[in-house]
Amino acid sequence: MRYRMPDKQDYGKSCFWQPFTNMKAGGHPLRVRSGRGVMLELEDGRRLMDCISSWWVTIHGHGRPEIAEAISAQAKRLEQVICAGLTHEPAEMLASRLIGLLPGHLSRVFYSDDGSTAVEVGLKMAFQYWKNMGAKGRKRFLSFEGAYHGDTLGAMSVGHRSVFTRAFSELLFDVDFIPYPATHISDADVVTREEESLSYLDCLLSTHGRSYAALIIEPLVQGAGGMRMCRPEFLRQVEKRIRAHGILEIYDEVMTGFGRTGEYFACIRAKTAPDIICLSKGITGGFLPLAATVCTDEVFSAFYDDDPMKTFYHGHSYTANPLGCAAALASLDLLADGEHFRDIETWHHEFIEGLETNPRLSRLRVCGTIAAMDIDVDDAGYCSRIGPELKAAFIERGFLLRPLGNVLYVLPPYCITKDQLKAVYACIDDVVCRI
Ligand code: PMP
Repeated sequence: MRYRMPDKQDYGKSCFWQPFTNMKAGGHPLRVRSGRGVMLELEDGRRLMDCISSWWVTIHGHGRPEIAEAISAQAKRLEQVICAGLTHEPAEMLASRLIGLLPGHLSRVFYSDDGSTAVEVGLKMAFQYWKNMGAKGRKRFLSFEGAYHGDTLGAMSVGHRSVFTRAFSELLFDVDFIPYPATHISDADVVTREEESLSYLDCLLSTHGRSYAALIIEPLVQGAGGMRMCRPEFLRQVEKRIRAHGILEIYDEVMTGFGRTGEYFACIRAKTAPDIICLSKGITGGFLPLAATVCTDEVFSAFYDDDPMKTFYHGHSYTANPLGCAAALASLDLLADGEHFRDIETWHHEFIEGLETNPRLSRLRVCGTIAAMDIDVDDAGYCSRIGPELKAAFIERGFLLRPLGNVLYVLPPYCITKDQLKAVYACIDDVVCRI
């Protein structure tokens, strides 16, 4: 069945203002009726394979009954409760399960609602840590070119300046951005680029080392910035350098957490030890919004004081929502029960090799369950004209892929089968040759 665009006039009348969408030019949302596993069913009966885990959240696929049942059981007991002065079992159990999975030095869990708030909390925690410690002047943040950390003002400030941030530039605080040595399969110059990046960092550190509160990075894979991947060796070098200057390290694992990079967390794969880690997206298997910012005892102890001015005055109405926590516990059970997130990297490698001869594709890359590639165009970048064209062509063939401009990526739910993944690659090969 051919893809039929919804009526534009009807759409203009909708009162649902969609995110990241130019409502006049670009939005033609497809109405989804249901989801099961990797498949979505549209209102008009068509089926789409969700190859991007619905913005990287539905790690086990749609409609997992184990999570639905956990939420339902929790809803019948306690749906929500104020979390200042009160606590509940799902929040406590989830905190200790997270601590059990994360590297040993991370020990305190602070809940919030989504990826942006997890990052805001991380930034504020690092900033106030230095205030509480009586350190004067530790006020700046280090970040990376191409970074994306969310859409609230603090998270935008530490993100790469782009079309996303332009309208708000006067509101954002200054950050020092380090070049990011993005790499790909058969990249011969990565070590040189890493050295350049590290010497840039060395330069900043030698002049302003004691003025930095923290460095923030999306470890191993920059997501919205174009699925740009770096080597674990680079992360270890960065960590060594900032440690020497006492700077805190914040890992934004909002996208990379919960198996995405082939390990539970990117810091485990990279063998690094961040002071603060921000988690969201896959935490509930995509069922409910929830986030956690986890820190070390050392960070926590700077707030553990009789002085009320050392309190972390941050919180959200839905902090540690019991339904979200119950969903997260059920999702962790599924991960532990052998969800095959570790196999997908091998399959990606096998299939992406078949695209190496496609003349329109370059910089093919894989990290864990994520594969990406660039399509060679004249207007490379997030606003590349090819993005919407590709998206429509994929939908016509029954695949939900959402290119980041000229960057095409596959980030499937872990329940995808090898044959289903093979079909995604066959579709990419076909579409890219025709466009
Ligand atoms: N950090 C990273 C690495 C992300 O990929 C995102 C979302 N794409 C965010 C933060 C923000 O998360 P949210 O959209 O849930 O606010």
